[in-house]
Amino acid sequence: MKKNQQVIIIGAGVAGLAIAIRLRIKGYEVSVYEKNPYPGGKLSEIREEGFRFDAGPSLFTLPDLVKELFVLAGKNPGDHFAYDALPVITKYFYPDGSLITAWSDPEVFAEELAQKTGENKFRVLRALKKSEVLYRITHHVFLERSLHKLSTYLRWDTLFSALQLHRLDAFRTMARANQQQFRDPRVTQLFNRYATYNGSDPFQAPATLNIIPHLEHNLGAFFPKEGMYSITTRLFQLAQELGVEFHFGAAVDKIRVENKRVKGINLNGREIPADIVVSNADIVPTYRHLLSDIAPPEKILNQPRSSSALIFYWGIKKQFLPLDLHNIFFSENYEEEFRKIWREKTVYHDPTVYVYVSSKQKPDDAPPGCENWFVMINVPANTGQDWDVLIQRARKDILRKLEKMLGESVEEHIQTEQILEPRTIDSLTSSFQGALYGNSSNNKFAAFLRHPNFHPHIKGLYFCGGSVHPGGGIPLCLLSAKIVDQLIG
Ligand code: FAD
Repeated sequence: MKKNQQVIIIGAGVAGLAIAIRLRIKGYEVSVYEKNPYPGGKLSEIREEGFRFDAGPSLFTLPDLVKELFVLAGKNPGDHFAYDALPVITKYFYPDGSLITAWSDPEVFAEELAQKTGENKFRVLRALKKSEVLYRITHHVFLERSLHKLSTYLRWDTLFSALQLHRLDAFRTMARANQQQFRDPRVTQLFNRYATYNGSDPFQAPATLNIIPHLEHNLGAFFPKEGMYSITTRLFQLAQELGVEFHFGAAVDKIRVENKRVKGINLNGREIPADIVVSNADIVPTYRHLLSDIAPPEKILNQPRSSSALIFYWGIKKQFLPLDLHNIFFSENYEEEFRKIWREKTVYHDPTVYVYVSSKQKPDDAPPGCENWFVMINVPANTGQDWDVLIQRARKDILRKLEKMLGESVEEHIQTEQILEPRTIDSLTSSFQGALYGNSSNNKFAAFLRHPNFHPHIKGLYFCGGSVHPGGGIPLCLLSAKIVDQLIG
């Protein structure tokens, strides 16, 4: 039966690739239509003058979700996609001069925090244990199944979670919880930062987001041997080998619906029939443009968006020994930084700066003696700010800050520069307002305010990717594809 069923996937982001692979393995005829000339969406790369940059994601967690796709296809994942576990996850540089190395091993990490800040080691270990408990309670309900299907609530593991809902810590903010569980403000700041992993504000988001450190410190952080972009290239290759058909430079104009059933898509005035359509495009343009005849779920579409990012890709003609793969240069006043981003919707003059240098792990990403710096700050989603002015100001602030904290000049070593910012994130990947992760998770009911992975009234229409349940970030995008796979059956 499935052999004759035509599936169209709109978008070749990581979630689009994953659902294409899953459905093709089940025997569907799968075609992917992608508006860009390349696959990957946000998970793409930039090359310039011998430098290679991962353009979007830089932190890789839960690699088993990628491996699973190769296993489903009957392949040995190790032959196709190799990665290393990182012993050091991040180096944290503080304005007071302290430097904390976040070792992945929880014991060593807790010892490091104890030595550098005086924080009680057992408090740190207790916080990581609590993070693990949160994960155990939530993951199979909130992350791995559709919250919008009755069947999810009729399972034993859901019942187990329901009995423990009081432990979700949803009624305090993350910042409040961290302030209460740690004594040293540097440790609190470090743990608050995890809210940014899904584009949230620790001073508003529920403490349930304290689930995130578990991913890094208990399950581990990883680096694909060929760089982050190889997640895209390897999945794309797998999809092609399985017989998925790809069309690039193909911006879909419309999803065709008749009598509450999906009929296919319109592309450049052509009607292309399909039994099933999965949109991997952001849910806002999916409704506003592709389903403009259908009543949109305004309450969901009008939720505040997650934060966006301003990234400078600098080819640096020098090597900086203090830097590791992932580096954070914290702001003095974290609360004020987030107030500027979230309340004033602008860029803070002393931003926390993230510097990702993949050439530390993969030397051929930069010419000999050089480094490829991905320099990112969190910024609000685009609501019409004067970005040209904000970007120029931020560039100066970032350079001043890095030079002060590293104690050496940076600007004179910049050989190449490219910039990605909210407007270009939107135009390149159709992510509404340039938000990195769809709607924000600041609201404690955010998981329930995301669009389901299916259309409740249109048969054959599904959604996957960072803007729909269970949300943004590579692992969650891959899980959204898994949910759609379960739903289609
Ligand atoms: P996308 O990557 O947005 O892909 C959607 C695709 O649909 C695009 O290719 C787009 O062109 C296509 N499309 C849209 N409309 C149409 C149409 N009408 N017709 C045809 N095609 C269409 N995640 C992490 O896990 N770790 C990180 O460290 C991390 N850091 C990030 C840093 C940055 C700067 C950015 C931008 C993102 C980061 N993320 C990170 C988030 C992560 O990149 C996303 O969650 C994930 O890549 C989103 O994948 P997706 O499949 O949902 O959608």
